[in-house]
Amino acid sequence: MQKVYLDNAATTPIDPEVVKAMHQVMLEDFGNPSSLHFFGRKTRALIEKSRRSIAEQLNVSAGEIFFTSGGTEADNMAIWQTVIDHGIKHLITSPIEHHAVLHTAQELEKRGLVQLHFVKVDAAGHVDVHHLEELLQHNSKALVTLMHANNEIGNLLDLSRVGNLCKKYDALFHSDTVQTMAHYTFDLQKLPVDMISCSAHKFHGPKGSGFIYLSSDLQVKPLIYGGSQERNMRGGTENLYGIVGLAKAFEIANQEVQTHQKYVQSLKTYMIDWLEQHIKGVSFNGDAKGNSLYTVLNVCLPKTDKAEMLLYLLDIKGIACSAGSACTSGANTGSHVLKAINSDMQRPSLRFSFSRMNTLEEVKYACSVIKSIFN
Ligand code: PLP
Repeated sequence: MQKVYLDNAATTPIDPEVVKAMHQVMLEDFGNPSSLHFFGRKTRALIEKSRRSIAEQLNVSAGEIFFTSGGTEADNMAIWQTVIDHGIKHLITSPIEHHAVLHTAQELEKRGLVQLHFVKVDAAGHVDVHHLEELLQHNSKALVTLMHANNEIGNLLDLSRVGNLCKKYDALFHSDTVQTMAHYTFDLQKLPVDMISCSAHKFHGPKGSGFIYLSSDLQVKPLIYGGSQERNMRGGTENLYGIVGLAKAFEIANQEVQTHQKYVQSLKTYMIDWLEQHIKGVSFNGDAKGNSLYTVLNVCLPKTDKAEMLLYLLDIKGIACSAGSACTSGANTGSHVLKAINSDMQRPSLRFSFSRMNTLEEVKYACSVIKSIFN
């Protein structure tokens, strides 16, 4: 049976070139990067080369990149560290953030460390920037954390506009860029952000590896204490192989980013057009045809008595997609994102997410299976 993977917002298959780069280091290098002898110096050099390569592509200094275990840790670092070390009193976020941000923000509020404010989101899933400005006007000492692209519906945020607003009101700005890093190019000299998060497994890199960019203007203490790794900012022996894989995946993605964008967008557009033509009553959650990430399509299907079975029916036909975010896929407990944008929760919604490794034939097959279920 054909197996079609359309759940790339949850994770992507690793690129064989990335495996090769990691494998070579696994075979040849094992020294602890903190050791002063030759073996340690060699792995230290590999880590610093990876850091420099990522920093160059983002147009920042290498000292502003800190390796982490992925997006969740990067989000936690950004929020905890600035709340504690910059005396943040107001945390401004949106109801459609990933749980790595939402649960962190809620925990800080529960501990009485911040007052939490939610920016309104419109029916298309876009953050209301005028409401954000109102919140900033009334709440000084604020940290704003808003994601660049939503992992469930794909809506994109205008980072420059939000970043400039934060500057105007002297607020710090973190963006969870986990779904967009290496899917777009970023020039952090020009983009007014203080912190962004990255996770390698969202762009054909290894799981458990990512980074946070922390602007050198920020003075923060570590989240994880221990050794002096990451210039005293994150204790613990570095994930050498993960870091090498992350840098390789980042390099591959950035080399051909425009080609990938165009190709993957064509798969998404094909699916939108096809479903509109063949499934009566279909619609799309978020702003699928507008300001939207080219890898994600959230489809709102007609009411059916098979709704509970939909993921299963697709799965037995070899199609992998998701009913919400990765954390809830398989068990549709009701997406907090779809609820926040007032999507019709009586109708089943499915998230299809694409990568450069998908083919048009795979998308066509998925479309025909959906049609066979609904007709
Ligand atoms: N933020 C967003 C928007 C995500 O989509 C994810 C992963 O699903 C994360 C954060 C968490 O990243 P990681 O799996 O690397 O911890």
